[in-house]
Amino acid sequence: MAGDKKKKIVKTIKVNADKCNGCRACELACSSFHAEPRYSSNNPARSRIRVVRDPLRDIYVPIYAGEYTPSECLGRDKYVLDGKEYDECAFCRAACPSRDLFKEPDSKLPLKCDMCEGEEVPLCVKWCLVDALEYEQREEDAEEEEPAGEMELGLEALARKHGLRSLVDAVARMASSDKA
Ligand code: SF4
Ligand code: SF4
Repeated sequence: MAGDKKKKIVKTIKVNADKCNGCRACELACSSFHAEPRYSSNNPARSRIRVVRDPLRDIYVPIYAGEYTPSECLGRDKYVLDGKEYDECAFCRAACPSRDLFKEPDSKLPLKCDMCEGEEVPLCVKWCLVDALEYEQREEDAEEEEPAGEMELGLEALARKHGLRSLVDAVARMASSDKA
């Protein structure tokens, strides 16, 4: 019908930090699902969900990776919840220049949660045996432009690191060697 807005399904993970016990099964499940070939290895540094752990203060906060941001925040806040003080950036989901979190350890390219594309239930949710992670889907009006995908984010980061010209030259070289 004319005037009808397009709809899209938004997938999210609801985090209940009170239930998290810091077991890090979610990190292992995520990194193993995204290993090449799939399930061939696991390395929490490659996980798109990381658990902020401070057992002495009883702090366990699972954070799954959001968008890449090219600049650091200028102002940062500390949070005190239930008498526990959380470090600056503890709740932030961005891959950003101020920390190594959510960056592929070898290439330093940003990692972003893809909700385990193709799976009915994300692996981190499935393996969180205490239900600290809950998978949710909701319908929203679609925006005009889709956010940048993982490939665009990776190319953007490479262009920033090596310069757009070198990136274009490298792609042209790869294209011509492909044809040869
Ligand atoms: S699997 Fe669940 S309980 Fe374990 S660290 Fe991850 S979110 Fe916390
Ligand atoms: S939904 Fe999948 S990709 Fe996202 S953090 Fe969980 S396991 Fe990793």
